[in-house]
Formats: sequence, structure tokens, C-alpha cells
Amino acid sequence: MKEVRVRFAPSPTGFLHVGGARTAIFNWLFARNKGGKFLLRIEDTDPERSKSELSEQILRSMHWLGLDPDEEIVYQALNINRHISVVDELVKLGKAYYAFESQEELDQMRKDSLANKQQFKYNRASLNLSIETVRKYLDEGKPYAVRFKVPDGITEFNDIVHGKTAFNNLEIDDFVILRSDGSPVYQIAVVVDDHDMKISHVIRGDDHLSNTPKQVLLYNALGWEVPEFAHLPMILDEQKKKLSKRRNPVSVEEYKEKGYLADALFNFLTLLGFAPEGNKEVISKEETINEFSFERVNKSSAVFDMKKLGWINSEYLKVSDPLVIAELVLNKLREMNLTDFDNSSIENLTYVENVISLMKERVSTVNDFVEFGKYFFVAPATYDEKGLHKYWNIEIQPVFKKYASELGLINDWTSAELEEHLRDFAEKHNVKAGQLIHILRLSLTGITISPGIFELLQVLGKRSSINRIHEFLKK
Ligand code: GLU
Repeated sequence: MKEVRVRFAPSPTGFLHVGGARTAIFNWLFARNKGGKFLLRIEDTDPERSKSELSEQILRSMHWLGLDPDEEIVYQALNINRHISVVDELVKLGKAYYAFESQEELDQMRKDSLANKQQFKYNRASLNLSIETVRKYLDEGKPYAVRFKVPDGITEFNDIVHGKTAFNNLEIDDFVILRSDGSPVYQIAVVVDDHDMKISHVIRGDDHLSNTPKQVLLYNALGWEVPEFAHLPMILDEQKKKLSKRRNPVSVEEYKEKGYLADALFNFLTLLGFAPEGNKEVISKEETINEFSFERVNKSSAVFDMKKLGWINSEYLKVSDPLVIAELVLNKLREMNLTDFDNSSIENLTYVENVISLMKERVSTVNDFVEFGKYFFVAPATYDEKGLHKYWNIEIQPVFKKYASELGLINDWTSAELEEHLRDFAEKHNVKAGQLIHILRLSLTGITISPGIFELLQVLGKRSSINRIHEFLKK
């Protein structure tokens, strides 16, 4: 059997889009499943729109997702001379021809077609020029593009996802393969590079399906073996519309910044089109590699469901190494300049680890630890107004002050001990335990919701807890 060699071929005109990442993942999974090679080609032939920072961004995002290529990266712009020489070869073979129409002439032709309610199709005027005229124009230096001469017939290919796909060549214009500025177009560049890189399977988004017959025609004209094709279903948002950055983040980088884990995002993206056995939703990379097959890839579009991503991420957070998560949380804290907390043990990973184990059942991203658990790292400066109004009443104030004064005497600062003490104290002073707990929570966190109060006290530690309560009483 032929070696499986696949490629991901992003254009560095933007950040790595989640749709692109899904394409890369399916290529990678297929290569891993078949023991083949996963390659990366940066399609940087558009000098205006391609930016090297964006190529680096794409590489970083791919690395983060665990999608490093198996061979050296191919930069398409470096192959332009080769693309041009293949165009020349097609002209020599009589399979492509010089077209001398100016942009204005072409625009006029388009307008005429529109006026006649016809789809524009190039009329092959230049193909019908005599050899002498062509030579004369070339000698005069008249600008030209090169067009591919689309043969009559039907172009068929077997798409692994969509099945047999056929296009009538009459519907295909004699498309330009070399622009009048001398630059080769995508169709020729992609065919030449895929051939030269010995790509066995072209796996890409559905949006390229209409390019495929043109590319098959080029392979045939050059007498090259046509690779297999697999076109992946579109990704839509919950409103069944194209993903739009106005509604949700679309770049991988943004998901990273928002505190999603690489493996969770990877897992989520595999489910956009791929259905694992038993419809599992949390599935390891290893299992996905083993199960991956185009038989389990859907034709119909996939929905990017943010809630599902949040849920998958929370599942990964629960089982991740707390140390790894602690590092991520610490990084976030540094980024947000929140390293200046009252708890001096903060640089101590164990503190963050304890916070994580207390909160991990309630969060869905790394950022949630910081957002909802900010009070673990910074003492409250203000206290929830409504909460104060509701709980800080005349009756409880003296009792709470007395309670606070006893805390220093507790030596065994554990949640069990703290709970027993508080409940005994409440009973002795004829108040409900809840009345004290509400105030305690406000004084420690500034807000009215938190994980279990006794665990919170234990994690914050004796000194920090008592300090916060005193600050509260002062204010
Ligand atoms: N560079 C193309 C794109 O970013 C992909 C080309 C291909 O996969 O054939 O859409």
C-alpha cells in the first residue's frame, strides 16, 4: 500500500481559525491512524495578505494543540518558479494558452454576459489567434495571462466523504493559471506542491469542493497521479450560520487565552464531523486515533456548540494534573497583575492546588478559577451591598464579633474542627449557624457565593482568614 501523506495548507492571512484547526486535526488523525505522515505547507503566495507573524501564530497554535508536522514546513512562496515552469510545460503541451485580454476587456465581457443574463464564460478569443499573432504579441511585450484549456467531457473523482462526485467540464471556464503580473494562481500552486510533496490524500474543508474538478483536470493534463480527496463538513454556529467572530471567538489563540485546555479543544474539534463509537463525547487522543475513519465522518454540517465545549473543558479540568492547572492559573494571575495577594504562600503551588481542588467541580475554564475565585488571591476591598443589608443586622453584630475573637484560639485549623466550633458557638449564643456563615462568607470573599465555608477557611489559612475578618469589622 502507498504511504499515507497528508498536509494542512493554511494561508497565513489570519490567525489559526478553529475551522482550520479542525481540518488540521482530521489530517493529523488520519495520518496517525494509518502510520503515515502529517505535513504542513504555509500558502504564503499572496504578498499583500500573508504576514510572517501570522505564520508564526499558526505554528504556535498548532504546536499548542499537539499538531507539529512530521517533516520540514513547506513555504509555498519559495516554489513559485517551479509553479511557473509547470505552467510553461502546460503551454508547450498545448494544454494551456496565452490570453491577451486586458482587465478592461474582460470586465466588458462580464458586463455583456450579465446584460444577456448569461453566466460569464471566457470566449476563448485568444485561443483562436493564429500562431503568428501570438508570436507578434509576445514580441511586442503585450501583457498576457495563461489560461488552462479545459477539455470536453466529465470530470469525476471519488470523494471519501461525499462519494462519487462529477462535474460537467462545460461548466468550467478556461481558468487562469498564471496572472498577467506573472504570479501563478492557487489552483496550479496547490496541484504542483501536492504532487511534489507526494501527498496521497487531500483532506480539507467543503469550501474547496468546487476547486477540486479544476485540480483534477490539471493532474490529468500533467499525467500525474490524482490524490484521494476528502472534503470535511462545514462548521456552523448554534444559529446555523457561518462562524463569525462577532458572535464567538474564532481563533485557537483566543480559546487558549480564555482558559480552555489544548486537549479539551482538540477533543471538541474532533467531534465537529467525526462520530466516535458509542457516541462518546470525552475521548482521548489515543482512542480517537484508533477509531478514526472517514466512514465515521459526517457529510452534513457540524454545529459549534459553546456549551458543549465548556462542558468538555470542565471534564478535562477535573481529571488534569492539579500541578499543571496550578501553573496555568498562576500564569493567568501574573498576566492580570494579581500576584500581589495577601496570602504570602501564594507563590506556593500547593496553595493554588488547594484552591483548584475546592473549585474544580464548579468551573469550566482555567480563567474561571481566577474570575470566580479571585478572593482566594486578593482580599476583598468591598462587600456585596445586598448581602450586607440582608445579613449584617443588629442582632448578629455582637455575636459575630465575639465569634471572631475566639478564632485565634483554634489551633487545629481544619474544616472539621472549624465547623464543630462554629456550630457549638451558634448554639451557645442562640443564633443559627447560617447567620454566622453568611457574614463569614462576606468577610472572607466580599460576595455571597463560594464553595463550602469551612473548606474555604481551611484553604485560606488561619492568618489570612483572621486578617480578613478583622478588616471587615474595621470597615
Ligand atoms: N490555502 C488554502 C486555504 O487556506 C487551502 C488549500 C487546500 O487545502 O487545498 O483555504
